[in-house]
Amino acid sequence: MDIDKTILKNLCNRIDTYGEEAIKIEKALTAIQALSPENGGVGESEKAEFIQKYLTEELGCKTIEHYNAPDDRVPSGVRPNIAARLKGKNVEKTIWIMSHMDVVPPGDLSKWTNDPWTIRVEDGKIFGRGTEDNQQGIVSSLLTAKAFVEENHLPEYDLGLLFVSDEETGNGYGIEYILKNHSDLFTNEDFIIIPDSGNEAGTIVEVAEKGILWIRFEVIGKQTHGSTPELGINAARASAHLVTSLDQLYDKFNVNDPVFDPPISTFEPTQKEANVPNVNTIPGQDIFYYDCRILPSYDLSEVKSFVQQVTREIETKQKVEIKISYPQEFAAAPPTPTDAPVVISLLKAISEIKNVKPKAMGIGGGTVAAFFREANFNAVVWATQDETLHGPDEYVKIDNILDDAKVFAHVALQK
Ligand SMILES: [Zn+2]
Repeated sequence: MDIDKTILKNLCNRIDTYGEEAIKIEKALTAIQALSPENGGVGESEKAEFIQKYLTEELGCKTIEHYNAPDDRVPSGVRPNIAARLKGKNVEKTIWIMSHMDVVPPGDLSKWTNDPWTIRVEDGKIFGRGTEDNQQGIVSSLLTAKAFVEENHLPEYDLGLLFVSDEETGNGYGIEYILKNHSDLFTNEDFIIIPDSGNEAGTIVEVAEKGILWIRFEVIGKQTHGSTPELGINAARASAHLVTSLDQLYDKFNVNDPVFDPPISTFEPTQKEANVPNVNTIPGQDIFYYDCRILPSYDLSEVKSFVQQVTREIETKQKVEIKISYPQEFAAAPPTPTDAPVVISLLKAISEIKNVKPKAMGIGGGTVAAFFREANFNAVVWATQDETLHGPDEYVKIDNILDDAKVFAHVALQK
């Protein structure tokens, strides 16, 4: 993993001059409202055209493949996905950087300081919808490629820039579509880096996620007046017993995996639906939910059957009927090993470029990397972000765009 320090320095110095360029690209991208049809938009086609034009005209990129997912809900009829490739010294693998083109709606406009679709630059930050999520990734990867082109230096391996649709509303027309229909685009040797989440210091490299299990409990007893409990069956009391009893989940599924933060599976009662509207009625029905985040070492079915068992015991003891359903469940994708080459290379690049101590970690669940991991490709999620995404006054720091671009350049130089 030796790298030529002089070339790295030249690339970094060049990237340091790209501040204005970053603003220019962010300005153009933000003005194009790439909202999915679910969010009342026309999709990503116009944004894809801008990126395509930038790749060909500014970067002279000749290898661009299109994987358009048909979608007749949008005017163009397709949800575009673009895979561009900058040739490297050898073709054994491709260093992919994947960003998504779609954005979420701005929400309450009165909470924004300015029009969300017109960028505002202040204190080294670019404000606007999409500037961080995920245009930071789009721009930093484009600038990495630009630096190699302008330095007239080939990356060690092919540098692949992947721009996908539909990340915010399910990925069915984006990376899931590509992996279903064109998974030969990737090899097991490839590096897949997804700059779509991170922390302020840029020290978290996400390699794994927990499984998600949401549980709905409907406890059915018998409603009666608050003064005559003997005539009814109190569903609220049965619920309370059930919640207390379900704390056994923490003992039963107690594996500790230090890759994750927190390192354990979690089983938490969350939402509770309103039962009776007044104090002097004993509820005959009580509905509540659990949000469980489960380490990949467990099968969701093991958890489910233990939940069933505990629930049946409470049913008998409390003389109620309890219906269980699962509004959402995702088994954890197999983790990307912390010693996978993409992880080692990225950690090395981050620590040398940013002078911090990065760490490979697992999180609570729900990242787009799971689609790659499901398909047995190693993928990591990393960026340096204040995580202002989805809120009003979303912004990206220009320095973060440039530093992330340098980190990618470092990875692309490693032999
Ligand atoms: Zn995102």
